[in-house]
Amino acid sequence: MGYSRFLALTLIAGLAACQTDSASRSSATPADEEDLTRASISTQGSNDSRVAKQVFGVVAAASRQTPASYGGYARGCQAGAVQLPETGPTWQAMRLSRNRNWTQPITASFVEDLSAFAATQPGWAGLYVGDMSQPRGGPMLTGHASHQTGLDADIWMLPPSRLNLTRAERESISSIQMDRASGAYATAAFTPQHMAILRRAAEDPRVARIFLFPGGKVALCNAATGDRTWLNKIRPWYGHNFHFHVRLHCPAGQRGCEEQAPPPPGDGCADAQEWVNNILNPPPRDPDAPPPPPPRGPLRVSELPGQCEAVLASD
Ligand SMILES: [Zn+2]
Repeated sequence: MGYSRFLALTLIAGLAACQTDSASRSSATPADEEDLTRASISTQGSNDSRVAKQVFGVVAAASRQTPASYGGYARGCQAGAVQLPETGPTWQAMRLSRNRNWTQPITASFVEDLSAFAATQPGWAGLYVGDMSQPRGGPMLTGHASHQTGLDADIWMLPPSRLNLTRAERESISSIQMDRASGAYATAAFTPQHMAILRRAAEDPRVARIFLFPGGKVALCNAATGDRTWLNKIRPWYGHNFHFHVRLHCPAGQRGCEEQAPPPPGDGCADAQEWVNNILNPPPRDPDAPPPPPPRGPLRVSELPGQCEAVLASD
């Protein structure tokens, strides 16, 4: 990727975590947050040319269907979603006005389990949970390219001191920043408790990968003791300095759900360090680099898996 584009993305990512365009990525890191599944899924063959985000972005409730994820994380939808309860014994859902606390049952269970672990950490009453998915998944009017199939969840870095935040407080409170130098380094705000929660999440067999700012991954690499296989799932990515993003595997037996290729073998620590090095000392522009691909237009309903039409049509 070109230097200017790399810099631009780094800057954009700092402002808009989880909203990055996948068209560019570090040479050290393959496709991640937005898996380019668009080319790999045959279209449903319908001629519904409506812009998908304008359809999915305004549906208020889940479909009355058996829970299922259809398509890929960045090109799909969800049937039969459940709503993460706004407040539980060890969590609160944040930014309720966005109506993005809908998800597949396996994801809700995972978040609840992780929050129970978080509550064992000193200073943590549990977890503040950020965006999951829309009631029927699909593309969003604002933000995220992924989070479309009910298998992605953003977890705030802010340690919850209490779990009785009002709706208004959940709109106004901000998470806290973990990095400096555009993601190259973790600050002292990134504590052993954050690291323990991230490790716990990565060790969960339901989890496919976790997105975290590059300096955070390097900090985990440096602090890790004992088994290091869990580090494989921690993926350095733009943004993800106020929250981390957990992506689950497709639930067993769901043939309509498309998995992402697994991360490359190994702990990924050298790749993360290379990403950091490229932030600190951006490589010169490669004059032979191919031009960036033309921007893609918004996904149309007809470009989503065919099952998504039924998801939209359901009560
Ligand atoms: Zn996310």
